[in-house]
Amino acid sequence: MNALPDHIHFSLEVFPPKTEKGVQKLMETVSAYTAFDPSIITVTFGAGGAEDALLYHRDVVRRIAHATHLPVAAHITCANRSCAEVDAAIDGFWEDGVRYIVALRGDILTPDGLYHPHPEGYFMVPDFVAAVKKRYPAMQVFVAGYPEGHPESPTEDFDFVHLQRKIDAGADGVLTQFFFDPDIFLRWRDKLEARGMRTLLVPGLLPILNFQKTCALAQKCRAQVPSFLAQMFDGVDPDGLDHKLLAMNVLSHQITRLIENGVSHFHFYTMNDTLLTRHLCVWLRAAY
Ligand code: FAD
Repeated sequence: MNALPDHIHFSLEVFPPKTEKGVQKLMETVSAYTAFDPSIITVTFGAGGAEDALLYHRDVVRRIAHATHLPVAAHITCANRSCAEVDAAIDGFWEDGVRYIVALRGDILTPDGLYHPHPEGYFMVPDFVAAVKKRYPAMQVFVAGYPEGHPESPTEDFDFVHLQRKIDAGADGVLTQFFFDPDIFLRWRDKLEARGMRTLLVPGLLPILNFQKTCALAQKCRAQVPSFLAQMFDGVDPDGLDHKLLAMNVLSHQITRLIENGVSHFHFYTMNDTLLTRHLCVWLRAAY
């Protein structure tokens, strides 16, 4: 077993709510997070990419950066948008002082469910990453990784090759899709290491706020839900205290196993929740 890491780093992912009232609530949420000194707050972006969505996203990123003085990472998707549009979004964030982005393709919105690059857009994420790094070498760029494979991936090998391309293009680290069994991440990390892939791998962990909804999301994202979780949450009221305690137990078990195996960076999909995230941060800060 590896020695415990010296220090634990974690990023917290939030999504921009659709209303101003929701944004105000989000600002209260993120100000509650600041006490725990997260390394970065990351802000997701809806793949639709309409002009008002872009402005709204930029505004939320700005407001969080201003209110927290923490580094903020803007998620930026390149599907359905021209290179000029994506580049303009990056320019805007750079002007605002944002020095971290999560560079993504984004989910497919076409009726046939297949990915068609925008005719004037980046063909794939590696091209997008390379372009950002060329224009702004100091921009820290994270990309997505999939310990259980991406739903569109034809083979595991294809996924590894694709991830390698993103790293070769200049990505500074990989934030993973969520998973529940920590050994899935550890085996994936071993496979990447065996292939000589060296980069910062940050496991993504999703607090189980509502087990049924989590299962539906996991199915969409190709994340296995171990059967013991179904047994644990069977008949448990998602709004009750038992559900929250069980969810906290699951998270602390996952994190302990990962830390015991040398992991020191974590990415939490907070779903804009405060309760579990706050308890998790209190526990992490006190325990490590
Ligand atoms: P890519 O890295 O380009 O591809 C993902 C996978 O698709 C590859 O691993 C590969 O297996 C397969 N693939 C790629 N090219 C091909 C090809 N030519 N043929 C066959 N298969 C191929 N979505 C949003 O809309 N907004 C967000 O803010 C957002 N944040 C995310 C944050 C994280 C940490 C993660 C893990 C995902 C996030 N997503 C977000 C979801 C992401 O956009 C989707 O998973 C999307 O389907 C793929 O994006 P990607 O950047 O991983 O794409």
